[in-house]
Amino acid sequence: MEERPCGLCGDADAWVYRTGPVLEGGYGSSAYDTTRLILTDEARLKGADRLCDACVAGLERDGVTYAYVTVLGDAPTQAMPAAAYAAIFAHHAGITLDTLQKHGVKRNRPQPEVTLDQIEALRADLEHDPSRTRSFRVGQVNFATETVRVARAHVLAAIALCAPLDDETIEDAARRYGESVAGSVVLMDSMIDDLIDKNLTEDR
Ligand SMILES: [Zn+2]
Repeated sequence: MEERPCGLCGDADAWVYRTGPVLEGGYGSSAYDTTRLILTDEARLKGADRLCDACVAGLERDGVTYAYVTVLGDAPTQAMPAAAYAAIFAHHAGITLDTLQKHGVKRNRPQPEVTLDQIEALRADLEHDPSRTRSFRVGQVNFATETVRVARAHVLAAIALCAPLDDETIEDAARRYGESVAGSVVLMDSMIDDLIDKNLTEDR
């Protein structure tokens, strides 16, 4: 059988593959099959393009990678730092831009005066945007999947408005999105804590 050594430790079979900031578990992985994870510190991989389960688990423990999409098994955690949400956003916005280019979508000359606020306003009308709302139905929001949709809507909105759109503007939008959503997740957690506290107090 073909040997597939891990790019980090070198001594285990590696079934988790890396594409840019995303790790994706393949069929041979017992812990990560069908799971996608986002890296917040790509330098940690030292150029490795495939990893074993143990090394991925180590990255999770160190807080530099977070599962954000999975087809089988438990839902990914919601409590990711701003940098993880920003990285998911930027990665999927980049994919959307590539897809549009592949289909020959022509872009008009960018209008530098179009602001990020304007793009965000249109984006929020196209897709539910957790970075622009302060009310959540507990248990019904999956921030990670929504982030993928919002990143897509961001690119469409920016193109429709003829806004400047490149790696730098995507990074800026991603950072602002990440900070806002990470704040919302904390807010939601504290809302749940408050509810539990209130119920406990009333039960007494
Ligand atoms: Zn390894």
